[in-house]
Amino acid sequence: MKIAVCLNHVPDTASKISVGPDNKSIDTTGITFVVNPYDEFAVEEALKTKEKLGGETVVISLGNDNHKESIKKALAMGIDNAVLLKTDEIYDSLSVAKTLANEIKAQKAEIVFFGKQSVDYDNGVVGQMCAELLGYNSVSVVVALEIEGNKVKAEREIEGGREVVETELPVIITTQKGLNEPRYASLKGIMAAKKKAIEEKAPETVSNYTEVLSMKKPPAKQPGRIIGTDASAVPELIRLLKEEVKVI
Ligand SMILES: Cc1cc2nc3c(=O)[nH]c(=O)nc-3n(C[C@H](O)[C@H](O)[C@H](O)COP(=O)(O)OP(=O)(O)OC[C@H]3O[C@@H](n4cnc5c(N)ncnc54)[C@H](O)[C@@H]3O)c2cc1C
Repeated sequence: MKIAVCLNHVPDTASKISVGPDNKSIDTTGITFVVNPYDEFAVEEALKTKEKLGGETVVISLGNDNHKESIKKALAMGIDNAVLLKTDEIYDSLSVAKTLANEIKAQKAEIVFFGKQSVDYDNGVVGQMCAELLGYNSVSVVVALEIEGNKVKAEREIEGGREVVETELPVIITTQKGLNEPRYASLKGIMAAKKKAIEEKAPETVSNYTEVLSMKKPPAKQPGRIIGTDASAVPELIRLLKEEVKVI
């Protein structure tokens, strides 16, 4: 059984992002890049699935040389093998999905984990696009998972509750916070990861379907206003909430 995880290398959410001089991309100067937070749940679930069902795990990432940093973290957590689809080109979501789908097919992976969303461009679509391209079943935003033989039972987070879904392998699962608690890499894991090779492959060229025309930061927030410091301020506060902000 081959279990794959698709992992992105993204700006740390604590980074202060500014738009680059081309007004179309972010300025990466001084930004720390990390494993996409939702992909850590995907790595953990791949490891737990292997521990239960056996098989082999592989992490796949599309991007430049810097992605090796996040790939190494997955290897240190316990993933067996790694593939970097190495490119400096700009890929939109469907191009990312097509490229990853080709590699998933080459790996003959039957269970594939994605994060529910990449916190850089936030589209939340690549996993489902890959499922469609490969003809795999897919369950998104998963918070609980059981795989027995060919059967997959997953719980999804929906507004105000949970939905229980059943499907079969091959399957793509996109992971949500709450599914598991990602393990820390042990010292043994970190040492073992140093010996694991990252296979580099040149991805097939794909054409983008969308083009980023411009990026802009949200308007600066208005400074806060203090209406008063005791109960006498309440009527004015209510008036402002009604008439100015229009929230009540
Ligand atoms: C080399 C490179 C340069 C880029 N430069 C730009 C740019 O300058 N401007 C721009 O607008 N976009 C750029 N992109 C696209 C951007 O980096 C996004 O990562 C990509 O579009 C996916 O974002 P999304 O919101 O569609 O992913 P989502 O659909 O939110 O991601 C869902 C899941 O898909 C998987 N995934 C997503 N991306 C990857 C990946 N690359 N490798 C492995 N798994 C992945 C992860 O599991 C993730 O949790 C670039 C992409 C690449 C590969």
